[in-house]
Order: sequence, then C-alpha cells, then structure tokens
Amino acid sequence: MREVHVLPCGYEKGDMSSLTLLKHAGTSVNIPYHIYLIEDSDFTILVDTGTSIHWRELHPKELNEAWPIQIEPDEYPDRILDSLGLSPDDIDYVINTHLHYDHCGNNAMFPKSTFLVNEDEVTHALAPGWWESLCYVRAVFDLPNLKYQKINGDFDLKPGVKIIPTPGHTEGHQSVVVKLEETGTLVLAGDAIYLRENLEGPVLPGLYVDAKRFARSMSCLQHIVDLAHGCMLLSHSHEYLSPQGWKLLGKGISTFR
Ligand SMILES: [Zn+2]
Repeated sequence: MREVHVLPCGYEKGDMSSLTLLKHAGTSVNIPYHIYLIEDSDFTILVDTGTSIHWRELHPKELNEAWPIQIEPDEYPDRILDSLGLSPDDIDYVINTHLHYDHCGNNAMFPKSTFLVNEDEVTHALAPGWWESLCYVRAVFDLPNLKYQKINGDFDLKPGVKIIPTPGHTEGHQSVVVKLEETGTLVLAGDAIYLRENLEGPVLPGLYVDAKRFARSMSCLQHIVDLAHGCMLLSHSHEYLSPQGWKLLGKGISTFR
C-alpha cells in the first residue's frame, strides 16, 4: 500500500502580491509550508524539507524581515516523522523541488538519504544572480556530508514516482507525479503553482525567473491532472485540486491513498 502524507511545517507572513503579481498588494497573509512523505512498503521518499528550524541563526536578516517565519516544535520534520513512527534515517530519498530556503531548510536532518535535485537548480543555488539570491541560503543545503544526485529532465525514481522538470519559478524547479491506488494520479506541484488564483486568473506569482517557462510549466501540470482526473497539491496552499474541483486540506497531517 502506498500513501502520500501532507506534513504542515509552519508558515511565514508575507504580502499577498508575492503570490499573485501586482494583485492584492498591502494584504498580509500567512503562507503555509507543506512537505510530503511518500510511504511505500518498499521505500520512503520525502519531498522537500521545509524552512530550517534554525532559521534565526542561519538566514540573513533581510530574508527574515521580508517573510517573518513561524514554526512550532511539533512542526519540525523529525518530530512529525516521529509521530508517524519514522526517523529521518528511515528516509531513502529526499526530492528537493528546488533549493529556495523554504524547501531545503532541513536537509541537514537527513544525512543517510540520497537527495535528488535538478542540475540547473544546483548551478543557480551555488552562484545565484542578484535577482534570485535572497531565497538561496547556502548554509542550509551546501553541506559536505549530504549525498546529492543531480538529475536532468524526466526521472523515474520508482515505478509510479516520476520527477518532471517544471522551470520558471526557479531555473531548475521540478515537480513530482505519484500514482496511488485510490487517488490515481497525484501531482506534487511544489512552487510551480502557488495558489488556485495563479491557475484561474491566470496570474503569475510574485517570484519567478522566467515568465514564459513558468506559464508553460503551470499548464503542463494542469494538463496532467485533467487528463488523469487526478489531484494536485501546492506547497503553499491549503487548497488542492481534485476531480470535483478545489478542496481544503484538513488540519494536521492529510493522507492520500
Ligand atoms: Zn516556496
């Protein structure tokens, strides 16, 4: 039996226009962090590791001022895994959708895992342009004891677990498509889409490196979900797309089977 658990890992405060470009400026919102555990009888995969629990010490001041962070101890990834009967050492693979601080912040917790990151993403994270540098915090991902495997393009990690490139938000952003028995196709979009409004507007997010490729990645994911009558989860939204339309995640851990 394969399950995907949605793990809430805190939130940050931000202006709504950082999610929807030039719209709703001046409206402060709580932006939730979600990471995902793919639990199979043969393997365990974590998709993203959230914002560092040591963000106060490790992040530059301007980052914490731009998006003030709130993470409770029971939202630390190792503690959530513990509540599910797992330890970080049980995680075989970690897929980082990208290397922004809020998606790889706790990579240090997983020294036994193999990390799968897009090659272009690694290049940009290590030597970012000025327009993208605020969101890359080298101290949380560039750690000599971690095993990174760089990938390029589509990557079948396991039968029914596929990584696909969805650039635009960042140069090497990737999403994950998981096949489940009851749900069918479940897309873990990462930050390829922030919110329902990005799709329905359509409206770009406030943060992107390439508008055209962002739009293409967004419609590619929409097509995958439409064709398969599947579901899609977004890293920073409590809403998810289902064949019956948009639905709300429950409080705490949600599970798709
Ligand atoms: Zn993010």
